[in-house]
Amino acid sequence: MQTLEKLKLLSDSAKYDVACTSSGVDRGASQNGGMGSASSAGICHSFSADGRCISLLKVLMTNCCAYDCQYCVNRRSNDVPRAVFEPRELADLTMNFYRRNYIEGLFLSSGILKNPDYTCEQMIEVVRILREEYRFNGYIHAKAIPGADSLLIQRLGTLADRMSVNIELPSQQSLHLLAPDKSKTKILKPMGFITGKIKENSSEMVRYRHAPKFAPAGQSTQMIIGATPDTDFQILKLTEALYRRYELKRVFFSAYIPVADNPLLPALTVKPPLLREHRLYQADWLLRFYGFQADELLDEKHQSFHPMLDPKCNWALNHLELFPVDINRAPYELILRVPGIGVKSARRILAARRAGTLRTEDLKKLGVVMKRARFFVTGSGRGERPPALTPDAVLRALVSDSCKEQFLPQGEQLSLFAPQAAELTAEEVWKCLS
Ligand code: SF4
Repeated sequence: MQTLEKLKLLSDSAKYDVACTSSGVDRGASQNGGMGSASSAGICHSFSADGRCISLLKVLMTNCCAYDCQYCVNRRSNDVPRAVFEPRELADLTMNFYRRNYIEGLFLSSGILKNPDYTCEQMIEVVRILREEYRFNGYIHAKAIPGADSLLIQRLGTLADRMSVNIELPSQQSLHLLAPDKSKTKILKPMGFITGKIKENSSEMVRYRHAPKFAPAGQSTQMIIGATPDTDFQILKLTEALYRRYELKRVFFSAYIPVADNPLLPALTVKPPLLREHRLYQADWLLRFYGFQADELLDEKHQSFHPMLDPKCNWALNHLELFPVDINRAPYELILRVPGIGVKSARRILAARRAGTLRTEDLKKLGVVMKRARFFVTGSGRGERPPALTPDAVLRALVSDSCKEQFLPQGEQLSLFAPQAAELTAEEVWKCLS
């Protein structure tokens, strides 16, 4: 098979992996006289039409796989054309694309060829050729293969910028049903090893400035959403635990695209749960930057996000006793919890109120989205009174008409309890959110 045919096949097989943003690494082109640079602003990602983040050369070493994960197009039992890149062939292809300005980095993953160790060795060879022979300084994200020897993972980590081990399914039970060759322990072991190595490396770097870096852009993981009955609450709790325990840079969520006719999986006609994926990303943001905990956003009784409200609005509506917040006196942490106020605008509010008393009219200039925030804040302007809040009135005002149309059967009332999340296309999701 020609290299370009392999590329077509193996980049298409890699499209389901969304853990591919480049960030957290800054390396100049001139370093060691090599070619390429990686910027902390993120250079090798792009967004496809359905909102997924894809890298410009996101490719598998091979789509041959010894495993039989039922949700995966590359599974052993699937009758599809297969291809394998030779390490030098893939390294040459990357350099050719780089020189032509098609790509700025490489996202390298693989099916399990023969066994995890052999697969990992092949991946190491691609990255070694790029780094040591071609002196390629661009961003490289490499998948750690669960089950591979720790020494191999260590070698891959010293060559790559970011590593990731995909959790794929949020519970051991789901893994057991759909990916019998995998287990929670097999996945978490390399993840723990990478975390340990990253920590070890940062203390080494303090003592020896020129010590080789280990995965300087950290590690990430991905979970498939909607292939199994796991709820938003279970997924969010796991996400929180992964950030705490393994200090991951990112947890990515990928709405399941049906690829197999299997009674254990959603039917082939079911649309990917894109809105659910979006709500999980919003909640993930709240965990990482807004000081929320998973238990505050969902709980045992409410295990799914409200499809019509973002998780922060939903939380605020369930905690109206804390509002309205006085923007001149409230602590930063509480201001950050007001819907419509982001991290930047919360900081601007704190800076601005040092210079004088703020009125709610001033907030728009500070970047606050008043469409949402107006129900939850009060200022000290003359005649300003705290807005009277009733959950129903605020809920009605916050949910757009197009969103109501998508979700509510005619005549049905809006409620704080999440209605069944409808399966929407990307365009419908966008219409609903805008
Ligand atoms: S290990 Fe499972 S998810 Fe990964 S390529 Fe093989 S079949 Fe697909």
